[in-house]
Amino acid sequence: MGIKSKKNKATWRKNKLSVRVCGHCFMCNKELLSNEGGWIINAEHKFFCETHSENVDSCFDKYLSKDKKNIYL
Ligand SMILES: [Zn+2]
Repeated sequence: MGIKSKKNKATWRKNKLSVRVCGHCFMCNKELLSNEGGWIINAEHKFFCETHSENVDSCFDKYLSKDKKNIYL
């Protein structure tokens, strides 16, 4: 029994390769993977989707505009 569970663990690790979940987007809770771009971490150590394209509101943009609103409330 002990040997079998060890084997399963090794297989699981192999399939994962070096891809790991770095965090979850603070706004939409999407998994942010180490091998994929398109996300950033801010000074508060929160993760956000960031498409780095103009005219598109990324989760980070949304968070910033939400933050601004909160200041004026
Ligand atoms: Zn997001």
